[in-house]
Amino acid sequence: MNISWSNITGHKQNIERLKTLCREDMVPHSMLFFGIDGIGKMLAAQAMAATLLCHHPVDGNACGECPSCKALIAGTHPDFFTVEPEEKGIITIGSVREMQGKIARVPIMSKVRAVIIDDAQTMNDAAANSLLKTIEDPGGEIYFILVTNSTMALLETIISRCMREEFAGLSPEDISSVLVKQGVAEQQARYLATFADGSVRQAILLNDEEGTSLQKSAVEFFENCAGHELDMEMVWSQGKSLGALGKKEKDKLKQWFSFLAMVIRDQLVLYSGSEIILYNQTDISRINKLTGQLSQHQLIALLKLVREYQGRLRYSVSPQLMVESFIIKVKTLLED
Ligand SMILES: [Zn+2]
Repeated sequence: MNISWSNITGHKQNIERLKTLCREDMVPHSMLFFGIDGIGKMLAAQAMAATLLCHHPVDGNACGECPSCKALIAGTHPDFFTVEPEEKGIITIGSVREMQGKIARVPIMSKVRAVIIDDAQTMNDAAANSLLKTIEDPGGEIYFILVTNSTMALLETIISRCMREEFAGLSPEDISSVLVKQGVAEQQARYLATFADGSVRQAILLNDEEGTSLQKSAVEFFENCAGHELDMEMVWSQGKSLGALGKKEKDKLKQWFSFLAMVIRDQLVLYSGSEIILYNQTDISRINKLTGQLSQHQLIALLKLVREYQGRLRYSVSPQLMVESFIIKVKTLLED
């Protein structure tokens, strides 16, 4: 795992703040790192945990040399725990109890213990309530770092007990520099970064075939909207193909909505005549052709609807039903 702040791109102010807390021994026992997916919150949580566990931290950084740091790198640290969603994408009470059992023992290697709860928004009620009890009365020196993309899906009682640290989306320059480090060609990295809505993960997803086909599908859908070609057959066929994206379908659908939001946003930019760079650089002639087919009012209403469904996606049981309901709403909106 990552033990160093220096491996994190961007977020300078967050890192400075967190390092200061470490340096001054003022770290609260429960913290909540939040912000959109794919921007490095987990890397920051790991660097924080490593610093807390380190035997000889240097100026708010884990030393990288002590037994604790070495054990973290090797993935064998007995006082460090991560809780993450199970196969179905949910953190159940079983996972929380397992962690509670482990932290009931005294620390073995470090003076404290650290727990990272990744995708904390996926805890079901039973899991969240159980965690709440531990956060309220952890029994000993334990640090909890909850990492989430949505504070809305978390219990208010949990949020109120945590120090909140918000991570903003990354700049296109930062995203492109991460991609280049990962071996993406510079020009391609710059292009992907303009598309990525602040998220490295989004940029990486876009770089594979699947991402490209989702982006095409979103542009096509918008073309149908602009041409008022949404009929019920379209509702069923789109619902079926988008609702059946297979593994990680929610992630992909979320991406599809993001792509759709970008097309709409590009249309609004074209309306305003401003010089802001368009997301859909490669499809520029296609995007240009669509300009003016929908009114600004319709575009804004459409964008609102997309944002609403992006939020609803988190709680949706059936992506297919959600897509169908979305398209029906779009159809109504365009007919008004
Ligand atoms: Zn160390």
